[in-house]
Amino acid sequence: MNKKSFNRRDFLRLSALAGAGAVITPGMSAQNPADISIGNENVFPMRKLGKTGIEMPILSMGVMRADNPNVVRAAYNSGITHFDTAHGYQNGRNEEMLGNFFKDKPRNSFTIATKGKFPYPLKDSFEKDYTDLLNLSLKRLQMDYVEIFYTHALDSRESTDDITNPRITNLLKQFKSEGKIKHIALSTHAMKPEQIDAAISTGIYEVILLSYNFKMPNLEATNAAIERGVKAGIGFVAMKSMVGGVAGAPGSAPTNVNGQACLKWVWENENITTAIPGFDNFDKLEDCLAAARSPKLTTAERDYLAMLDSKNMLFCQRCGKCEKQCPEHLPIPELMRAYMYAYGYKNAGLSKETLAELRLGDPASLCSSCKGSCRVECSLQYDVAGKIAAVTPVLNVPDVLLS
Ligand code: SF4
Ligand code: SF4
Repeated sequence: MNKKSFNRRDFLRLSALAGAGAVITPGMSAQNPADISIGNENVFPMRKLGKTGIEMPILSMGVMRADNPNVVRAAYNSGITHFDTAHGYQNGRNEEMLGNFFKDKPRNSFTIATKGKFPYPLKDSFEKDYTDLLNLSLKRLQMDYVEIFYTHALDSRESTDDITNPRITNLLKQFKSEGKIKHIALSTHAMKPEQIDAAISTGIYEVILLSYNFKMPNLEATNAAIERGVKAGIGFVAMKSMVGGVAGAPGSAPTNVNGQACLKWVWENENITTAIPGFDNFDKLEDCLAAARSPKLTTAERDYLAMLDSKNMLFCQRCGKCEKQCPEHLPIPELMRAYMYAYGYKNAGLSKETLAELRLGDPASLCSSCKGSCRVECSLQYDVAGKIAAVTPVLNVPDVLLS
């Protein structure tokens, strides 16, 4: 780990903190929102992001679930410099919130990543549609460029081909040459090392955002692929590090995991530049900051992670076993992800977004061909049909009622 420390006082943004310098603790409200920060020591290990020239703390903010700009403010004032959003999060409000927050901040005091999805197979209008998507994201963010632009959630069987598809790579190169994005990137939940190799083969991808956690079934192969990627100059960012909590019965509340232990496990791999946990309140931010300020796993935390080895988590391991078992060819890993968002993250809006993108048709008709007898034998012993039945009703909830 790079021993160089980061101190927010080194940054131009300090001007925003001049004055009272109030520090709030969780549950308290600051008199002046500009002063909100968590803790007194904004000192974290820093790592370089591949060959991008960007150096950032090992802890970044996944903004996905946050809708309170004061949590963003607290993260920023506490030393976090990288903020990760996406075109689709909160139907665009997530990007708008960041745009409003950062519009008066020095542009070199933070970096932004956003992401854009495109449907399979590519439509004739892909180039125009994807350009419109990026332009709208920049407008919402009130920025001329983003540092990192990810092709979002390349998770399907076809997605490895999309990584090398010239229509996609040429458009990404065009975005970069136009100055709208500084670095070309891709994001994936699929946990397929071959995707990393496909990205390396193109020579254009500079950053990969990937699911990375202590429960991964193919850790050795993934770490080897990451190593190859690092040698090729690619920077790696970790998500889904907290595995969504410990699985319970369908519809029951999962048990949260020790997020600090999960994050510290990720940071043990020095090829991972930063992690983007999706904290949305001051308590979770404080938890993540405490981990980043003292990132070495303790013996107790190692024992805890070892104990969880035998437990099922809400994070589908994408082993692919169910793909051929389901006669309706349902996108079961994506449905399990939607379930995790609803019951693990408690984010029904994100769950609905995820489900809507799957274009499932009438949710009430799903699984009808099996007449109550699910044929999927999940590697994690998930009650797949039960989870599908528990999550799909969210599609019928009006957006106005969802966060
Ligand atoms: S069998 Fe279970 S763990 Fe494997 S991909 Fe399907 S839902 Fe996920
Ligand atoms: S019940 Fe199971 S096997 Fe049948 S359609 Fe649903 S998920 Fe597929």
